[in-house]
Amino acid sequence: MRPIHPSNIVPFPGLVLALAIVLVGGVMTGIAAYYFSTVIYMVLIFPLIMGFLAGWLAVIGVKLGKIRNPVVGTILGLLCGLVVYGSMWTAQYYGFKEQVNQSIVEQYGPQDRAQVEQTINQELVADTGQGGFVGFVMVTAKQGVEIVPFISSTAQGTNLGETGSYIYFLIELALVLALGFRPPFKAAAMPFCKVCRRWLGKEKLVGYLDPNLSAEILSHARSGNFSAFPAKFQPAFDYPMIGVYSRSCQSCLVNDSFLSIQKITRTKQGKMVHKLMIEGMINYFQRNDLLRQPVPGRNSSEIKPA
Ligand SMILES: [Zn+2]
Repeated sequence: MRPIHPSNIVPFPGLVLALAIVLVGGVMTGIAAYYFSTVIYMVLIFPLIMGFLAGWLAVIGVKLGKIRNPVVGTILGLLCGLVVYGSMWTAQYYGFKEQVNQSIVEQYGPQDRAQVEQTINQELVADTGQGGFVGFVMVTAKQGVEIVPFISSTAQGTNLGETGSYIYFLIELALVLALGFRPPFKAAAMPFCKVCRRWLGKEKLVGYLDPNLSAEILSHARSGNFSAFPAKFQPAFDYPMIGVYSRSCQSCLVNDSFLSIQKITRTKQGKMVHKLMIEGMINYFQRNDLLRQPVPGRNSSEIKPA
């Protein structure tokens, strides 16, 4: 089997499409996160969800844009994380200004909006030395992030203080970025059919193999010699077993397939655990050799390791 080597190709229209998905989707996710946060904000859980969504959006961008460069995939994931988190903060800033405006209107009746904005800015500058968005972030840190235990609503919250709040914001951003970059990195390194210009299809189970032949199976798979493959596929039997999975192009039948051989065991709790033994690309002939059905009337015990 040959290792997968991503071609690193980034089609320009695909990149534009991916950027559009990441930017538009990221802004919408950030705004949605802000609206949810006005109801309830769960410390650490929220940034994890935002990071997950950022990664998911970047994967869609990579897939639809046919981006086969993992570095570009990573950058898209990080960019999406920044856009999501930045948009949430920006939405918070606008929400804050709207709140101030409303309370002024309630107290003093309708006011000139431009004047209200100016007053807010002056207050921010007086408080932090900075106006606008930066001043708002500084004021938020100055007030301090309040952490309230989720289980007991009567318990006292803990204020992280100004420095603690900045550290907390950085941790949030780090979480969003950390969760966002890996999925698009992996997606861009996935096997691709150069002829049909499309990603290989979903992973499908080819069959199960006898785990007692692990060493022989591995050695044949490594050398790519499937014509004398030491084991035949059989119906699922008891754990542990070896599962063989493949991804092939859905448009053509002649191109290379991706093969993954995994050891499947079951924990005492009944959970299936897949451990990768080997994976890589095989060509049309190797796939045919592998998929060759056993001759009827001959049972698998007759097939001895080569
Ligand atoms: Zn194809």
